[in-house]
Amino acid sequence: MSDAFLEKPIDYLKGVGPNRAQLLRGELGIHTYKDMLCVFPNRYIDRTRFYKIGELAQSQADVQIIGQITHIETINTGKHKRLVATFEDATGQIELVWFRGVKWIQKNLKTHTDYVAFGRLNWFGKKCSIAHPELDLEIDSKKQGVFQPIYPSTEKLASRGISNRIIRQIISNLFDEVNSRFSETLSEELMNYHNLIDRSKALRAIHFPSHQNELAQAQYRLKFEELFFIQLQILRRKQHLKNKFKGLVFDKVGSYFNEFYQQHLPFDLTNAQKRVIKEIRTDMGSKAQMNRLLQGDVGSGKTIVALLTMLIALDNSYQATLVAPTEILAQQHYSSLSSLLDPLDINVELLTGSTPRAARRIIHEDLESGKLHVLIGTHAVFEPTVIFNNLGLAIIDEQHKFGVAQRAKLWKKNTIPPHVLVMTATPIPRTLAMTMYGDLDLSIIDELPPGRKPITTAHRTDRNRLAVQRFIKDEIKKGRQVYIVYPLIEESQSMDYKDLMDGYESMVRDFPQPDYQVSIVHGKMKPEAKAYEMKRFVEGHTHIMVATTVIEVGVNVPNASVMIVESAERFGLSQLHQLRGRVGRGADKSYCVLMTKEKLSTDANTRINAMVGTQDGFELAEVDLKLRGPGNLMGTQQSGVLQMIIADLSKDQPILESARKAALSLLHKDPNINSEVNSAITSTLLQLESGKGIWKYIS
Ligand code: ADP
Ligand code: MG
Repeated sequence: MSDAFLEKPIDYLKGVGPNRAQLLRGELGIHTYKDMLCVFPNRYIDRTRFYKIGELAQSQADVQIIGQITHIETINTGKHKRLVATFEDATGQIELVWFRGVKWIQKNLKTHTDYVAFGRLNWFGKKCSIAHPELDLEIDSKKQGVFQPIYPSTEKLASRGISNRIIRQIISNLFDEVNSRFSETLSEELMNYHNLIDRSKALRAIHFPSHQNELAQAQYRLKFEELFFIQLQILRRKQHLKNKFKGLVFDKVGSYFNEFYQQHLPFDLTNAQKRVIKEIRTDMGSKAQMNRLLQGDVGSGKTIVALLTMLIALDNSYQATLVAPTEILAQQHYSSLSSLLDPLDINVELLTGSTPRAARRIIHEDLESGKLHVLIGTHAVFEPTVIFNNLGLAIIDEQHKFGVAQRAKLWKKNTIPPHVLVMTATPIPRTLAMTMYGDLDLSIIDELPPGRKPITTAHRTDRNRLAVQRFIKDEIKKGRQVYIVYPLIEESQSMDYKDLMDGYESMVRDFPQPDYQVSIVHGKMKPEAKAYEMKRFVEGHTHIMVATTVIEVGVNVPNASVMIVESAERFGLSQLHQLRGRVGRGADKSYCVLMTKEKLSTDANTRINAMVGTQDGFELAEVDLKLRGPGNLMGTQQSGVLQMIIADLSKDQPILESARKAALSLLHKDPNINSEVNSAITSTLLQLESGKGIWKYIS
């Protein structure tokens, strides 16, 4: 059936009519036949199968079981009265529960008689029950043997009579109208190779499955298709960038790199660092512009990789810049990089929002003349007034704090765009990296420098406060320093600010001078004051740093070995992980204490337990993905491409991997996708690229 047909407004479909059409548009955003076709059931009630009680699992929703009632009792009286029946088969027992109609049901229930019980499972730990089950004395073929899709709905739809049954009927009419035939979007070859059922069959089975296996095949096929076309577009874009933009060719590794590498490297590189540097060198020498994402957990040593990369640019007579999201971080990069580069004859400057006007003018001049080799800075570097003589390399630290538009500003700072290396310490689950950053090449530092001791992480509440204080004092006695971090979602939120100040005051009370020195840093302070307090802590003049999350990224104080996070339940997982990464940077045993209130929500509990359970950023990122979903994880601004119809990046990694492989191999064999055998793919792509939809978000 032609796709033009599917663009018809929903009003024309049998069983819809103007009123229903309006409701469907308003409530579910269904405008066309195609929209209707793509409203997939969000679950299915499978009454083709009978379960044994022993095999019930938490993941199941509605089940039917054959068994007998062995015991009945009423519990409580009045409003809380309920009827509980023990229901058994040979493999175990569950409870059936009624809150309404108790008297009548009790009179009619028969013990020691076979029933088919059907309903939704509720779990309390390992115990399981069904409230208000459907009970039948015999197997009724009209009820059993049915595989029923449940469609998304809204209160309004339900109250206006557009029930699940009606939606099913409408979709069934759609299938009748097109004779159940829909155009294929994939090639024969691809379908054969990946064992995919054809599209018409898949669409029928997703709406009207006759058994579990058929449904699974349909879901696989449709998810594969969705992910395949996303990947195909991302990879084509990547290819296009490579062809369109000539890259600067850095084929020389010269004296800066070699001298530094041989004489001034402060430590041996880890194998992961060496591998990544090699990947970068190959890229920059390849005639195409480098667009590479460097992922490495906190403390994995990305800075030295950035530095060596800059030296390659300098060896090829180009300038380099490194941009960081906060002033503190830029400052820190500046001080560590300029001291590392001190033995070489290289000019490095720092440019931030608070660089005085006079100094700024000199920096601008020296950049333009080429006298300045390396510029480290914050957003200030993006400004159009910042003009380079010949920018060859732009490095962006903590990439996720910047937008795509800002990356683009750096591109424009040279006629041939500079090589771009973006770094992130927030591990991104692989499925997201392949989708969000699928047009970038990916390097991963998956190894920490040697000698790092694991950080002990503990969960404590107010009840343990005194013990935590004693612990802090003990550590300070040993010569260590301590961070205490308060949540500050929005720097302007006055309540958070008050919490922080109260915390600071009580810290000063509990840790009195002159034995203890306490610093404070937060977003409301002037940059100079912030820098001053940071400096006192970095130099070891203060023992305790009370701070908001401004210290989240990048701060490096090896002697600080204790991280206390207050109201830890209010932080996201990646933030907690980043905060913990501030300690464990020196030779000493380090600790992270997560302070929370007593009662936690399920999600908060999962986060805290995950933190206590692992230090692996990628593992935590996977937990985060399951908790929050891809859109929330990446921020709404970038989430367009993540709004998928059927695929779910938190669950479908294997499908995504094969879809990406399939897209790569197609582009390899048929780079312009114009061979006859791929015509179905070509026309689908054309339609996607010309059209609306999610593709425009890929940038
Ligand atoms: P991040 O990846 O979080 O930016 P950094 O580059 O700040 O990590 O490195 C963290 C710490 O580890 C720094 O003190 C750095 O000097 C040190 N470091 C980095 N690489 C190595 C290595 N190969 N051997 C020993 N120490 C290293
Ligand atoms: Mg860093």
